[in-house]
Amino acid sequence: MNGRVTLLGAGPGDPELLTLIGKRRLAEADVVLYDRLVDPSLLAFTNSQVKLVDVGKLPQHHKVKQTRINQLLVNYARVGKKVVRLKAGDPYVFGRGGEEAQVLEQEGVDFEVIPGITSAIAGLAAVGIPITHRDFASSFHVITGHHKKNGQKQLDWENIAQQEGTVVFLMGMAQLPKICTALIKHGKDKKTPVAIIQWATQWRQKMVIGDLTNINELVKEHQLSSPALIVVGEVVTLSKQLNIHRPLQGLHVLLPYSKQHRLFNQLVDRGATADFYQRAVKVPQEVNISAVEYAKLIVIDSVAAAHRLITILTANGSDLRTLAGKTIVALNHVVAHHLRTIGLIADGTLPDVNLPADYVEVGGEKPQTSAGTFLSLYQKVSRCDSLPFELGEFNAVIFPSMDSLADFAQLLTPKQEHQLMTIKAFVMGPKISQVANQLTFQKVIECQPSIDETVKRIEEEFGRD
Ligand code: SAH
Repeated sequence: MNGRVTLLGAGPGDPELLTLIGKRRLAEADVVLYDRLVDPSLLAFTNSQVKLVDVGKLPQHHKVKQTRINQLLVNYARVGKKVVRLKAGDPYVFGRGGEEAQVLEQEGVDFEVIPGITSAIAGLAAVGIPITHRDFASSFHVITGHHKKNGQKQLDWENIAQQEGTVVFLMGMAQLPKICTALIKHGKDKKTPVAIIQWATQWRQKMVIGDLTNINELVKEHQLSSPALIVVGEVVTLSKQLNIHRPLQGLHVLLPYSKQHRLFNQLVDRGATADFYQRAVKVPQEVNISAVEYAKLIVIDSVAAAHRLITILTANGSDLRTLAGKTIVALNHVVAHHLRTIGLIADGTLPDVNLPADYVEVGGEKPQTSAGTFLSLYQKVSRCDSLPFELGEFNAVIFPSMDSLADFAQLLTPKQEHQLMTIKAFVMGPKISQVANQLTFQKVIECQPSIDETVKRIEEEFGRD
């Protein structure tokens, strides 16, 4: 069995800046080894059987040693796994991607490299700094501020200071005073503009602008630290003109992951960062549905139950016509809305319909009504043990359905439950609001069950003009 390692560039942070092939490789992977700088919501693109390994390294504190990472890559590939080594930015821009590739080549392991958008360029654009511009810089230079203890070439400061182009330092924050001093000493104008950009393209993005003489002070004053880019050059002045401010900039929202992305798009297009958590998987149950054929009224609890019902009907050689003449009741308006998209117009929603004594309810694990015959068409299985997020880093979480809230609540650790106290929950409907109020959210905000309304409420709560 031949495995393969993909050194995959995750981009600078914003999950949408992953490449299309990168997304496909994540979906195909058996094992994903990921770094500290990689946004955890990218992991939602993986399949349900994937093994996730956090090899994130903290500065000065190697959580998993590089030799161990290399060994893991080789070992997994040798037992036939499709391995993705998910790396921040581009795999071959610092971050030791080249060294990992060399090990794989030496060990005879199949590997490929998929580029990512590097923070060294995209991080500047995120704050309105074009890395080149005909009036200011006709070259750019990307330099590491962090040196291997022995053996690595020393920087040629003379040369760097003489460049007219934009100079970008990565991993340079610990050396910032030395970098400024060296540049001035070797002839760079003291007044050359400098920008420090921390967590570029992410909700926590921060920037300060100064020059070679005062940037250290400004960094201390505004408390910027690693990971950050140090940008030296006249192009920095363009940020004032080209940095685009959007109403929900800096807002960090958590969403249930679903294929229906309109909510995600609307938030992100207004400048918010939306991360998503993985929904539980619905595992089909084998059931005898003959009761459906005889029932006069059918309550449908969820879209998944409707889909599953149709699958079972067709597997038995019949189809939607089996439901002809029966009264169809949807659990709520959201379910009714979705039923329309699969060609079923509900005759009513609960609790507005009087249920007769003999009806059939189709759903997931538990009945939502108290009488009638309940058919469980699927069981939910969580894809992970806990939410892979520091919830304290979020401003808001959105629950479009009761199911999405149940999936969320099930994954909460005690520490995460505590973190809810600083988060506002936006719930799309009164029933969800009742349940959300039992958790410890700072505030539960009930919205109409419509995406546009919910986004409007979020803008009212957080937006700035
Ligand atoms: N391969 C990565 C760089 C890895 S080295 C790339 O192509 O972007 C790690 C350094 O990259 C950090 O110390 C920091 O200087 C920079 N970096 C990576 N992502 C960043 C981000 N979103 N914002 C600011 N700096 C970032």
